[in-house]
Amino acid sequence: MYGSLSDKISESFKRLRGKGLLRESDVDLTVSEIRRALIDADVALPVVREFTQAVKTKAYGATRTQSLNPGQQVVKIVHDELVEILGGEARDLHFAQRGPTVFMLAGLQGAGKTTLAGKLAKYLAEDNKRVLLVASDLQRPNAVTQLQVVGERAGATVWAPEPGNGVGDPVNVARSGLDHAIRNGYDVMIVDTAGRLGVDEELMEQARQIRDAVNPHEIMFVLDAMIGQDAVHTATAFRDGVGFTGVVLSKLDGDARGGAALSVRGVTGAPILFASTGEGMDDFERFYPDRMASRILD
Ligand code: GDP
Repeated sequence: MYGSLSDKISESFKRLRGKGLLRESDVDLTVSEIRRALIDADVALPVVREFTQAVKTKAYGATRTQSLNPGQQVVKIVHDELVEILGGEARDLHFAQRGPTVFMLAGLQGAGKTTLAGKLAKYLAEDNKRVLLVASDLQRPNAVTQLQVVGERAGATVWAPEPGNGVGDPVNVARSGLDHAIRNGYDVMIVDTAGRLGVDEELMEQARQIRDAVNPHEIMFVLDAMIGQDAVHTATAFRDGVGFTGVVLSKLDGDARGGAALSVRGVTGAPILFASTGEGMDDFERFYPDRMASRILD
């Protein structure tokens, strides 16, 4: 997943291993190699800067204590800083105290929202939650049918637009879906929304209206990990335009260079909640910063 980034970092660690003494110049060299590897992986510059600064300061400290295994200590410092930029502790999902919990999905077209809706429904159903999927993406042809397909696979009911519940109006579909979820005692309602190919104001306005109609407990911004440098721009546009409480990284199975994962938390301040790693309903997991950091450094 992080092939090249992992390789480059472990390459630069190699030199440190077995060193009895660690000099500041060793730290400088390692940090500058890691810096280059992060930039090559499309990590946002402010994040790279903060990361390398923190590693340097702590690793200089390690040169002064001259502990038994300085190389190992630098590896640990890098690991801990990776965990930090990935968000530290994993955060639990926000659920309603009473009545249905509402999760809203937002993101660009093709990011993986509809697929995620199914995965999330399955994940929640395994925890004995009754889930209603709401089809508020009326923009993309087939989005409703696609949601019905993933809903069926996940064993979740789909609330699709039909006469009387808001045909042609995604805000009404969401609102009537919420009524339905309340009346029928659903535990969680997941609202799929429309995405455009690029960020646009009409899309943001529609997402805001849906948000205001259903008051989500979580707004999950779905980010295609393959989009590299654009990730930061897209994420900040959605943060400013709609706001979100968490991020889901999709397509982490692809040959993503890792930049999106490593930048998005630092740039937006929102935690990464899940990682999506394929098209199947089970290619999906909670996101744990320490596990991800270990994978990168493996
Ligand atoms: P939406 O427009 O945001 O609803 O995106 P979709 O859910 O329709 O996903 C767009 C495409 O990406 C589809 O072909 C999905 O099968 C695919 N996809 C979604 N998530 C993943 C993932 O984690 N890995 C891979 N490889 N493909 C994914």
